[in-house]
Amino acid sequence: SAIPGSETARRRNLADDPDSRKQVLPSIRERSRQEYLKMRVEQQMMLTKQDVLDEELLFKNQKLSKKEKKELELKRETLNLAEERLKLSRKTDEYIMPEDYITEKGKIDKRKKEQALYQRYEEKRDNQFFSTEQEQWESNQIAKSSLNVGAQDRQKGDNYEYVFDEKEFNWDDWEPEIHDEEAAFRKRVEEEEKRVQTIQEVRQTLPIYSFREQLLQAIEDHRVLIIVGETGSGKTTQLPQYLVEAGYTKDGRRVGCTQPRRVAAMSVAARVADEMGVRLGHEVGYSIRFEDCSSEKTALKYMTDGMLLREFMTDPLLSTYSCMIIDEAHERTLHTDVLLGLVKRIMHAETNLRLIISSATLDAQKFARYFRVGDEEPPIFHIPGRMFEVKKYYTKNPEANYIHAAIGKVMELHINPLVRGDILVFLTGQDEIEYVQQNLEHARSILGSKISALDICPIYANLPPDLQAKIFEPTPPNARKVVLATNIAETSVTIDGIAYVIDSGYVKQNFYSPKSRMQSLEVVPCSKASAEQRAGRAGRIGPGWCFRLYTKYIFEKEMPFDAMPEIQRTNLANVILLLQTIGVRDIMQFEFMDPPHTDCIVQAMNELLELEALRQGADGKPRLTKLGQRMAEFPLDPMLSKVILESEKYHCSEEIISMISMLTVQGSIFYMPKEKKVAADMAKQNFYRPGGDHFTLLNVWNQWVDSDYDKRWCHDHFIVHRSLMRARLVREQLAALCERAEVPLERNPDPGDIVPMQKSILSGFFMNAARLSLSGQSYTTTRPGSSQTVKIHPGSALFKVNPKLVIFFELVKTSEEFMRQVMEIRPEWLLEIAPSYVPQSL
Ligand code: ADP
Ligand code: MG
Repeated sequence: SAIPGSETARRRNLADDPDSRKQVLPSIRERSRQEYLKMRVEQQMMLTKQDVLDEELLFKNQKLSKKEKKELELKRETLNLAEERLKLSRKTDEYIMPEDYITEKGKIDKRKKEQALYQRYEEKRDNQFFSTEQEQWESNQIAKSSLNVGAQDRQKGDNYEYVFDEKEFNWDDWEPEIHDEEAAFRKRVEEEEKRVQTIQEVRQTLPIYSFREQLLQAIEDHRVLIIVGETGSGKTTQLPQYLVEAGYTKDGRRVGCTQPRRVAAMSVAARVADEMGVRLGHEVGYSIRFEDCSSEKTALKYMTDGMLLREFMTDPLLSTYSCMIIDEAHERTLHTDVLLGLVKRIMHAETNLRLIISSATLDAQKFARYFRVGDEEPPIFHIPGRMFEVKKYYTKNPEANYIHAAIGKVMELHINPLVRGDILVFLTGQDEIEYVQQNLEHARSILGSKISALDICPIYANLPPDLQAKIFEPTPPNARKVVLATNIAETSVTIDGIAYVIDSGYVKQNFYSPKSRMQSLEVVPCSKASAEQRAGRAGRIGPGWCFRLYTKYIFEKEMPFDAMPEIQRTNLANVILLLQTIGVRDIMQFEFMDPPHTDCIVQAMNELLELEALRQGADGKPRLTKLGQRMAEFPLDPMLSKVILESEKYHCSEEIISMISMLTVQGSIFYMPKEKKVAADMAKQNFYRPGGDHFTLLNVWNQWVDSDYDKRWCHDHFIVHRSLMRARLVREQLAALCERAEVPLERNPDPGDIVPMQKSILSGFFMNAARLSLSGQSYTTTRPGSSQTVKIHPGSALFKVNPKLVIFFELVKTSEEFMRQVMEIRPEWLLEIAPSYVPQSL
């Protein structure tokens, strides 16, 4: 059975009455062409309309020059003319003639009118889905044949299977969806107006807005101010703008705002540039490692905390800033903690720098105490948030696999018609996110049109900026967005529209064991504070739901209350070297908010001594060596900087910086789609070269360069083009840094001889040597006092090759302790390269 006038009914009529089909054929064909042409005109008109509209809206709040006004008027006139013409042509339109619904007495037959409009709408709608001319012709034919026999014939009854008796069917109960240009036009107008207004309106609806004046006053009154506000209240995007608006950049100094994460720095800067109507990189810019998107003009600069640390090397009083915001201070990253110590020192000095510490958690007292001078603590400014209740659910039993549980939950929510709003899933890293993304895409393609549209948006630190922007785009109606995020979405970026949060309960964290002197990245349960922040993301637009993929018991008994500050679980070599160059000689005296363990400091010092970046001074205190000073020039781990500097000896700096650039993106170079795993594996193995993974990476790089940085080449070889693009960017920066540090860029004279490169790498990584154990399966690391059992990662070219002695780039702990990016070395090189270093158990 079919609703009268519907496509189904029409098709049925046609099938029932083959004769009517023949009759109408020729005329329809002709008409269909005209229709088609008319549609094209209408489309073009819509475009012109859009043009005028865009400009009108764009200039609505600005004064137009005479010329611009004239142009706009001209466009408007043209548009009117076109519309007139279209109206005329519509008169000749045979099947939407008003006669269809004007009765003999000249009155409008409402029922018929709606029928006609409804039909017209359906035709239009159908036409949208037929793309070729042939299909369009067919669809029109179907539509019109029914028109010929349509409305008037309905009374006959016999040919139709109506669901209900027409007499009882009341058209007044139905609201036809009218899809004419007028309606579409009006809708577009509204949408456009909204878009332009939203930016300004949203700014004014953010919680921080009502405190604008008070905040500015407080900043004027106090040199240090602590601001606490719920995620999304506008601290990051608004506050810096207020400062600019209030004139803090008038004297040529800048307003700065630090972010712990690259992605946040970039996306926030882009957003603020948009809000201020300026180009990114001009008045508003950002600076992250290996990428500076700012200029002389930049008045408002977002940067990673690490980049600000580097600025201290040249400008220890931050004299180019009038105001510095240390944002997301609650994250307590290594760099934030060091920054806090450094800005605290500045506050003792004579400057009129304004300092703002901004945090999303309520434990602001700690910051206040830290910045206390004498009896005086900086005030804490609370921005009350707007939060709706979030209902939390736990699993009854522990999940064996939170990744699969997450996939299942997303699909379960998505297909539930009662579930409205977007979903945010917290996972631990890029690999997991990609895995979940692939699975969801797969499920989506299998279910096809059975489910409504599902937009899958990943976000993690290494995601290229163009893809990052996608998570902020509003979800189209009738579709749902599912954001797959690392803990980056906990506080540093705010995604609107989230009503459901799925929390894996895990986080990937750096760990450093001073005992074994090993840095590892581990997936561990997140803190309760994190879990609460994650749940809170669902309550920004209305009441929300949070599904925790762990039991209540685990939440209460096994999750730590707060995350350990990074400074207490990381290798400090980098930071100590940096602090040395800034002039902080005695780390023990440096005022940390939570001081790192003494063992960690001592061991980092030792590492720098082994690398010869420091040497013991006559007074027993360590001194920076020339080498150390040069090493600090590079925004890299001291081991890597040393490799670059030492490559000069071996005349292969070109190859070395290629390898190191590739190492910085190592995790995401090889594309491993599940469905083409065999081919992808083969492709990867074809890149293998003797010597180890460093040479595989170099080989990929060289071949890509030979292909002239070709995207196709990447595609054909299962290589992630974006990652190589990033490596290219890093390499350019490294080459520039080499020039500055006067490292000549040289190519290894004998490409067949890999020893120079091996020795260069070894000069930085001799402490990461590992010896094959007697069993021939596992390795023992050789750092004094820290030998442990590790294996070669299955993804390595040396997996199963098992050379006697190797060095590794990093250790990762998954099911076991694995060495990643492994290179073969010879024992005698150790003595040659690091004569004073005594490895254990060689
Ligand atoms: P806070 O720093 O207090 O957590 P933000 O200033 O980051 O808050 O965010 C304020 C508002 O700006 C949020 O509602 C968020 O939706 C919006 N916003 C932030 N960044 C972007 C972006 N890149 N694109 C679109 N909207 C954004
Ligand atoms: Mg923020």
